[in-house]
Amino acid sequence: MSDVLAVADHRRGDLRDVSYELITAGRQLADDTGGDLHLAVISGSVDNFAEKLNRDGVDAIHTVSHGEEFNHDVYTQTITQLYDELAPQYVLTPNSVNGLDYAPAVANELDLPVVTDTVDLSVNGETLTATREMYGGKVETTNELEGDAVVTIREAEWPTAEGTGDASIAAFDAEIDEDAIGSTVNGFEEVGGGDVDISEADVLVSVGRGIEEEENLDIIRDLADALDATVSSSRPIVDNGWLPKNRQVGQSGKVVTPDVYIAIGISGAVQHVAGMKGSDTIVAINTDPNAPIMDIADYAIHDDLFDVVPALTEQFQ
Ligand SMILES: Cc1cc2nc3c(=O)[nH]c(=O)nc-3n(C[C@H](O)[C@H](O)[C@H](O)COP(=O)(O)OP(=O)(O)OC[C@H]3O[C@@H](n4cnc5c(N)ncnc54)[C@H](O)[C@@H]3O)c2cc1C
Repeated sequence: MSDVLAVADHRRGDLRDVSYELITAGRQLADDTGGDLHLAVISGSVDNFAEKLNRDGVDAIHTVSHGEEFNHDVYTQTITQLYDELAPQYVLTPNSVNGLDYAPAVANELDLPVVTDTVDLSVNGETLTATREMYGGKVETTNELEGDAVVTIREAEWPTAEGTGDASIAAFDAEIDEDAIGSTVNGFEEVGGGDVDISEADVLVSVGRGIEEEENLDIIRDLADALDATVSSSRPIVDNGWLPKNRQVGQSGKVVTPDVYIAIGISGAVQHVAGMKGSDTIVAINTDPNAPIMDIADYAIHDDLFDVVPALTEQFQ
C-alpha cells in the first residue's frame, strides 16, 4: 500500500486545469497501489486553491503559503520535505512550464528516476508502467520503473476530477531556506496580440501551413467573421510571424476547449493536438485523407481549403 503525492499548478492567481487532471491521474495510481492521494498546494492563495481542489478522490491536501507565484527553489524544497514526511511512492506533477522546471530537480534531490510527458500510467505490484509518445506521436514507448519515481503528466490526457471531496486540509510546515532561493518571478509580460484569449473562445477557426502565404489569411479571417469566431493557428504560422504567439494552439501554445474547432490546413501533429483535443466538435479541412487530424475530427472535409473555406464563408454569411 503506497501513497501518491500530486502537486497542483497555478499561475497569476488561477489554478490551471491540469491540477484537476492530476487528481484523476493520481487517484488512478493510488487505486492501483491501494494508497492515499495527497495533493500539495504551494504558494499563491493556498486556502482558496485547496477548497477548489477538494474534489472526489483526494484524501489529503497540504498547503504551503510562500509567495504568490511559482518559485523553483520553494517548490523543490517543499516537495522534497513532503516526500520525506509522507513517503509516497510516486510524485506526480504536470508536464507544464512549472512542472518541467522543478520535477527533474526534485528527482535529483531525492535520487529518484523521473519520467516526463506521460500519457498513460498504471501500476502492477512494484512496477509503474508509463506510456510516452515519441517522434511527433508516431511511436509510443512503454517505460517500466521499479520503486519510487517522479512522473510528469501531459495536459489534457486525463479527464478533470469532478464532485466535492472530503479531503483533510492542513498547512504543511515546510522549512524554506531563503538563502538557497536563487530566482524569483518579478512579473509577467504579455506576448503580442492584444487581449485576445483563444482559450476563452467558443468557436475557433484555426489555420495551418496549408494556407501557404500570409496574404491568404484573409479567407480565414472572413470565415471567422462570418461565424463570429476567433482565429487561432498551428505553430508554423506563428513562427513565420503571420499571427502573434497568443494565437498558437498546442503544447508550446495554448490549450483550448471550444465548442467548435475548425482545423484548416493543419496536419494534426501531436504537439498541436495536445492543445485542442478537448474541443467538443472538431472539423478538419485537409487535402490529405491520411493526415492525423482526420482521425480525431468529428467532421472531416477531404478537399482543398481554397475551395472549401470561401464556400463555407458564403454559406454562413
Ligand atoms: C517541442 C515542440 C513543440 C511544438 N509545439 C507546437 C504547438 O504548440 N503547436 C503546434 O501547432 N505545433 C507545435 N509543434 C510543431 C509540430 O510538430 C508541427 O510541426 C506543426 O503542428 C505542424 O503545423 P501544421 O499542421 O500547420 O503544418 P503541416 O504539418 O505542414 O501540415 C499542413 C497540412 O496542410 C494540408 N494542406 C496543404 N495544402 C492544403 C490545401 N490546399 N487544402 C487543405 N489542406 C492542405 C496538408 O495536407 C497538411 O496536412 C511543436 C514541435 C515541437 C518539436
